[in-house]
Amino acid sequence: MSNKNRVSANKRIYYFGTGLTEGNRDMRDLLGGKGANLAEMTSIGLPVPAGFTITTTTCADYIEAGSKLPKDLIVEIKSNMRRLEKETQKIFGDTTSPLLVSVRSGAAVSMPGMMDTVLNLGLTDKSVVGLAEQTGNKRFALDAYRRLINMFGDVVMGVEHHLFETVFDQIKKRHKVSEDTDLDESGLSQLIEAYKSVYKKHTGENFPQDPYKQLEKAVEAVLKSWNIPRAITYRRLNDIRGLLGTGVNIQSMVFGNMGEDSGTGVAFTRDPSTGKNEFYGEFLINAQGEDVVAGIRTPQAVGKMKKWRPDIYEQLLKVKKTLESHYKEMQDIEFTIERGKLYMLQTRTGKRTGAAAVKIVVDMVKEKRINQKTALLRVPANDLNQLLLPSFSPKAKRHVLTKGLPASPGAASGYPVFTADDAVTRTENGDSVILVRKETSPEDIHGMHAAAGILTSTGGSTSHAAVVARGWGKCCVAGAGELVIDAKRKTITVHDRKITPHEIISIDGSTGEVILGDVAKQAPTFTKEFKTLMSWADKTRKMVIRTNADTPEDSAIARKFGAEGIGLCRTEHMFFGEKRIMPMREMILSENSQDRKIALKKLLPFQRKDFEGIFHSMNGLPVTIRLLDPPLHEFLPTEEKSQRKLARAMKVKFDHIVRRVNQLHEVNPMLGHRGCRLTVTFPEILEMQVTAIVEATINCKRKRIHALPEIMIPLVGIDTELAMLRELTEKTIERVKQKKKFKGKLDIPIGTMIEIPRAALTADVVAQHADFFSFGTNDLTQMTLGYSRDDIGTFMPDYLDKNILEFNPFESLDTTGVGQLIEVAVEKGRNTKTKLKCGICGEHGGDPASIIFFQSVQLDYISCSPFRVPIARLAAAQATLLNQQLTLFN
Ligand code: PEP
Ligand code: MG
Repeated sequence: MSNKNRVSANKRIYYFGTGLTEGNRDMRDLLGGKGANLAEMTSIGLPVPAGFTITTTTCADYIEAGSKLPKDLIVEIKSNMRRLEKETQKIFGDTTSPLLVSVRSGAAVSMPGMMDTVLNLGLTDKSVVGLAEQTGNKRFALDAYRRLINMFGDVVMGVEHHLFETVFDQIKKRHKVSEDTDLDESGLSQLIEAYKSVYKKHTGENFPQDPYKQLEKAVEAVLKSWNIPRAITYRRLNDIRGLLGTGVNIQSMVFGNMGEDSGTGVAFTRDPSTGKNEFYGEFLINAQGEDVVAGIRTPQAVGKMKKWRPDIYEQLLKVKKTLESHYKEMQDIEFTIERGKLYMLQTRTGKRTGAAAVKIVVDMVKEKRINQKTALLRVPANDLNQLLLPSFSPKAKRHVLTKGLPASPGAASGYPVFTADDAVTRTENGDSVILVRKETSPEDIHGMHAAAGILTSTGGSTSHAAVVARGWGKCCVAGAGELVIDAKRKTITVHDRKITPHEIISIDGSTGEVILGDVAKQAPTFTKEFKTLMSWADKTRKMVIRTNADTPEDSAIARKFGAEGIGLCRTEHMFFGEKRIMPMREMILSENSQDRKIALKKLLPFQRKDFEGIFHSMNGLPVTIRLLDPPLHEFLPTEEKSQRKLARAMKVKFDHIVRRVNQLHEVNPMLGHRGCRLTVTFPEILEMQVTAIVEATINCKRKRIHALPEIMIPLVGIDTELAMLRELTEKTIERVKQKKKFKGKLDIPIGTMIEIPRAALTADVVAQHADFFSFGTNDLTQMTLGYSRDDIGTFMPDYLDKNILEFNPFESLDTTGVGQLIEVAVEKGRNTKTKLKCGICGEHGGDPASIIFFQSVQLDYISCSPFRVPIARLAAAQATLLNQQLTLFN
């Protein structure tokens, strides 16, 4: 490698400014999102203060070296600082015209507020004088200096923030002022000295007067912040993996706190809650950027800027247009106005709710910014979940306590909790809670995730709380200023009404209302944009989407959500009702076939009625009915009281029941007497279930309901099991037909679940007896990995924490292992029967990542729970597009 190449391979810093911009938007992995987009905005001519970005590789190197800065880094920083000095015509640490910089984190995936930032770097006892002269504003210069000592002490050196606060309060008292902004120059000078003492006392060193020392330490702090607990938690909760580390952005400072003609704000190019094409955001006059995002002061809506500075508002609208035309995506921007001049400090793809995501892409197709394919690929399928969530019923009575900002839509009710830890504990104990905070800080992230909703008394709809909540689709009301929150006493007061922790409150994320008591919720209604996107998805996808449902009600919901049939009707769920469990228990406890048949006869009418109901809901669509699957002891009473009740009902001795329950006990029930093994030993169960299916079908047909049953035999491992049970099924069908004198055609396909590895490996012979395969990926995962489905709680968290597994294989398919078995089975099965219909009905049917795999092995259908049907429809379309792209590239 030539020397020149080696240098560029080791390049750690990319500059952005007029004359030289080295990065661009495609370099997110290397420069982080913030760095890449600062470079991009500079290139397209937007007003960005110049600066440079240290690469994410540097962060990885720093961590790998055991928290040591690479030795060439400081030299490279210095040479870029010289370029920056030249461009800004200011000098770092200078006594007359000092250059100040900000140091900010920025990873490839945005993690709002989770890592560290330091502002105003470069101020020292000497340069603060220069800043005062340069700006003609001594108070401002002193204020910037005290902010630096505080922020540097807190973020870089770990001095607790409240130690500075206490000193500040003392000085304000001494100067008889209540607001920070009322402290005059002499007060600020005293504050600076006091801050320096706090700094020295808690760090053992003087506040650094060498600006490069400040810079070096701040860069290191930002690199370190990649692995602070809240950043790790955020990555875990948001499933952010595989990133190198954070970039570090060093940028010349602009000030939004230079007086009444300055300000700072955050905005979205479209409304991130609803997706409406309206400029949406907030700003504060005479403030620094951190004041907006940290939610300390409640800002004004950006529309109000029209009155304050119409010229700047116009400029911002132009920026919105430029950014959207360039990125073809909704942007989230940060800006600062310094003495009437607008500067852009950040742009990134804006986080949005599921509803907004759908509206934005559909609108953008109409605006001809993107095509339908891009639109389909851009909405994360899982986000549709939020559109399927309930809202408060408009008819329900609402005792509205107060109103805040509607920061993230949805409806949530629960007991108020005042700390993040409490939110987690109470939720784990089964309570629904609302996390109530004055303002949320990134430290609250775990509590925000656990709570049903988030309520704050300060902060705007662009504060971190709101941004994070929206990303999760979690209901949030922010800035409800009339709430007086006493976290210590665990009370909230609104207009003299005290709410205790034992009273439920409700929050409406679409209106901002805070309501006393629980409010009735209603099912979601689908917007026209949702319907449009779904119609594009249906046109694009290749796989059919069915649902797992075992009641007429669930079937009807699933059908409304677009299910094209039932892929798994678990018949065992039908035996739990109060009237059914008794005959079921009788059947299980019977000691001979005769008694068993008597009990089964009692169950038959229930089953038949259930099937008729489901066929009615699914009129004209296929319904795959699975024969009884779980181990029988699951139906038996374990407590003495219920055992005695059963003995009385069955007119047998209590001891008899106890003995039979013990007899039926299995050490390893998931691998025991279940699935098709039950019907091998007790064929009369199969006969009863098939009879119920066929009678229900004939009854429906006679009522002109188009019933299309399919019979599925579970847990087959050996082809001869299936052969035998198929024969019995066919004979039973024939018998019922004759008994019911049904002359018409009854074409009932008989298939099997593939959920035992042996069945997958011998699929060619199994297929000889099957009209279809349905992969039971829950059991297939259990048996391939050898992990008991019911016992993973003890070791799975460690496997994930220690990166032995990247994800829980019961949630997302292990495509390498379990996937291989599916691929083999499909291939072997179709070698025997070219058109063998193959589908999947395990939980993975609702997981977008697994769906991509199912498309790649050309399954015909996926079946998932009713509420995941729309997600599966979109994910299946995305899978088709992604698999097409892959074939194109291969
Ligand atoms: C499966 O094993 O994936 C399946 C669908 O069946 P069950 O979950 O009922 O065992
Ligand atoms: Mg199973």
